[in-house]
Amino acid sequence: MDDKKQLARILNHLGEDREHYQRAVSPPIMQTSIFSFSSVDEMRKGLETEFETPFYTRGYNPTVAMLGKKIAALASAEMALVFASGSAAVSAAVISAVKAGDHVICVQKPYSWTFKLLTNLLSQFGVESTFIDGTALSHYEHAIQPNTTLIYLESPNSLTFELQDIEAVAQLAKKHNITTIIDNSYATPLYQKPLEMGIDMTVHSASKYLNGHSDIVAGVLCTSKVRGDQIFASELMTLGGIISPNDAWLMIRGLRTLELRLERSANNAEIIVPFLEAHPKVEKVLFPFSPNHPQYELAKKQMDGCGGLFSILLKADDIPAVERFCNSLEFFHIACSWGGYESLQFPVCALYDSLNYNNPELPWNMVRMYLGVEDAEVLKADLLQALNNI
Ligand SMILES: *Cc1c(COP(=O)(O)O)cnc(C)c1O
Repeated sequence: MDDKKQLARILNHLGEDREHYQRAVSPPIMQTSIFSFSSVDEMRKGLETEFETPFYTRGYNPTVAMLGKKIAALASAEMALVFASGSAAVSAAVISAVKAGDHVICVQKPYSWTFKLLTNLLSQFGVESTFIDGTALSHYEHAIQPNTTLIYLESPNSLTFELQDIEAVAQLAKKHNITTIIDNSYATPLYQKPLEMGIDMTVHSASKYLNGHSDIVAGVLCTSKVRGDQIFASELMTLGGIISPNDAWLMIRGLRTLELRLERSANNAEIIVPFLEAHPKVEKVLFPFSPNHPQYELAKKQMDGCGGLFSILLKADDIPAVERFCNSLEFFHIACSWGGYESLQFPVCALYDSLNYNNPELPWNMVRMYLGVEDAEVLKADLLQALNNI
């Protein structure tokens, strides 16, 4: 009850200084790049608090700040920074934790552009990375080097849904004075609170559940005040990957229904995952809250909910059979991403340029499914007719 009260406060009231704008229920959009001063001395004072009061929108903007307050409170963080994309948030967080000569331990198969950041970009600046199977603590212990300064997690991973024991990794990292970052896009701050488990920074693609309407690209980084202030003054201001006031406003609007959307998506998964698991044309479903998931116990321990994103492996003879299934789905757009109001499918075979190729890590019969807020029976009937087309 207290949690629900707190959530209602955050989503509908926190940060909204309605006395300042004629008690409008929906806040105005401060669509301005600059703020003016009544005197030179006022400007001088303004410069001293450039990141906390209106001066220039790459630094502080009231609409963006309102959003940041809500995100921080949701994540139990002292501070949240908002970026123009999830990748901008990931990059700012990672760059803040490394310098030339440092070593990063990252889980296998992180989000594709996170992988490219570590392997293509940071390697040019003398930062080396090791990618490990993050499901056992011993793998981290073996990978730690004297120059390891960062452990990067993503739990669950958003394509094959492996988990990491967040609390255990955070403890190990603390012992070795290593910074920890987790990509928490899948669970959102509503269903998983890694900062409370000892992680230093969480990053999210807000393009997914947080905004929830597939109409903006955005990202957030949640952390302590000390770290947040440093990243604001350094990575955020110099790389400049800030969100626009207009997009921040859209995200504030999207957040109003975060709980509602997640619950609906999660309830749909509760109905549809067992249905798919029992269907003869489905070989396997990868979903952390399924009792068949190898890390089900861990998922239940560290996540309060799971949403509606999972992958299925079809019992199909060939890629054309998979394509028949995908093409005949009426209510699942064929698209990347997830976390909006609409159901989606991402067929892994679209990554294949040859019908004879197979990548055992991401096999051609895998389709990632996302359940939106449509009625479960509508989605189930759609899946059933499509499975019959295999
Ligand atoms: C989409 C995504 C990102 C990148 O976010 P963008 O908003 O697309 O830049 C990072 N991590 C995960 C897990 C994602 O799904």
